[in-house]
Amino acid sequence: MSAREWLDKDFYAELGVSSDASSDDIKKAYRKLARENHPDANPGNAQAETKFKAVSEAYGVLSDPDKRKQYDEARRLFGSGGFGGAGGGFGGPGGFGGPGGAGGGFDLGDLFGGQQGAGGLGDLFGGLFGNRRPGGPGGGASTANRPRRGADVETEVRIDFYEAVRGATVPLRLSSPATCQTCRGSGAKPGTRPRGCSTCGGSGLVTRNQGAFAFSEPCPDCRGRGQIIDSPCDDCAGEGVSTRSRTLTVRIPPGVDDGQRIRLAGQGEPGRQGATAGDLFVVVHVNPNKVFGRSGDDLTITVPVTFPELALGTTLTVPTLDGKVSLKVPAGTSSGRTFRVRGKGVGKKAGGNGDLLVTLQVAVPSKLDDAATQALQEYAEATADHDPRSELNELLGR
Ligand SMILES: [Zn+2]
Ligand SMILES: [Zn+2]
Repeated sequence: MSAREWLDKDFYAELGVSSDASSDDIKKAYRKLARENHPDANPGNAQAETKFKAVSEAYGVLSDPDKRKQYDEARRLFGSGGFGGAGGGFGGPGGFGGPGGAGGGFDLGDLFGGQQGAGGLGDLFGGLFGNRRPGGPGGGASTANRPRRGADVETEVRIDFYEAVRGATVPLRLSSPATCQTCRGSGAKPGTRPRGCSTCGGSGLVTRNQGAFAFSEPCPDCRGRGQIIDSPCDDCAGEGVSTRSRTLTVRIPPGVDDGQRIRLAGQGEPGRQGATAGDLFVVVHVNPNKVFGRSGDDLTITVPVTFPELALGTTLTVPTLDGKVSLKVPAGTSSGRTFRVRGKGVGKKAGGNGDLLVTLQVAVPSKLDDAATQALQEYAEATADHDPRSELNELLGR
C-alpha cells in the first residue's frame, strides 16, 4: 500500500466513529465490525472480507497513538479527501512513484525523497515523521539527497520617504537556516560519523505485522532517518542545519512605493546538492512625509491660500523635491482645485518623472481685527447678489 492510499482513506469512517473518538470507542467499534465481517463467519462473502480488511487496517493505525497522530496531522494538512485535493502540489519531478524502498509497505521513500520542486511540502512531511530538514542528515532513503532548489525568503525594510523617491542602498541583516558549518550537515560531532541503524538496516522503515497485513512504518530507533547519531553536533543539535546571519546590501530603485516587494534572485536559502538558491523578497515600508504625499508616480502637496489670492489671482511659490517652482493661479480659482506641475514627481521605472499635484486650500483666519471685519462686511454687501448655493438649491428643486 502506498502512502497516498494510506492518507486517502478515511479510517474513522471505516470504523464508523468520529475523529475525536476515544481509544476505547475505537476498540469497541473495531471489535464489533471485525466480528460481523470475520471471514470465518462469512465464508465466500467477498464484501465482508473487504470490509474486514479495511477495518483491520483502520484499527491498525487508529489504535496506535503515534500513528493516529501522524494520520490526523496528514489529514489536517491535506484535507480529509487525502491527496486527491492537493494533487496539484505534487507535480514536480520525482513526486510520487519514485523507486520504493519497502516492498509492499507504505513507502516513506516516496514521500520524503521525491520532494524536488514541491516547495515547502518537504518540510511539512519532515515535521510529520521525524523532522528531516533540507541539508540535514540524509537518512536512509536513497532519494533523500537529490538536488533541491533553496527556499524563498521574505524580509522587510523600512526606508525614508525621500529614499523611496530617489532610490537608496540599505544594509539588510538576515538570519536563515543553512547547512551547519561545524558538522557539514551530517549532524554528527566533528570526528564522529552517523552510523547505519541496525534496527531497520538503514532503510528508515520497519515492518510491523497487523493481523494478516504487513505495515511499513518509520523506524522508531532512528525516527525514519536510517542513521543514528551517537554524538550529536553541539552547534545544530544533530539537525545538520544551523541559523546563519549574513548582511546584504540591497539597492532599492527610485520610485518604490510603500508595501512593494523587491525580488533579489538567488539571495534566498542555499540550494541543496548544487541546486540553485531561492530568491529573497524584500517588502519595502516607506515612512510618510509631512509635506509630500504619493499617488503612484505623482507627488502630492496641499498649499494653503487666502480667499483674495484665489479670487484675484496670484503667483505662488511651491516647494518641490528639488527646489521651488512658481505656480500661476488665475483669478476666480476655486478652493480645492489641483494644479499639475509636470515632471516634478517621482522617477518612473520606464524613465521620465511623474508630476507634482498641487492642491490649493483656502485658509480662513480664526480671528479678524476691526478693519478686516469691516472690509469683509463691505465685501459681503457688494457681492450680495451672488448666491454660492443657487446651483445646489436648483439641484435640490427648491
Ligand atoms: Zn552541526
Ligand atoms: Zn532505524
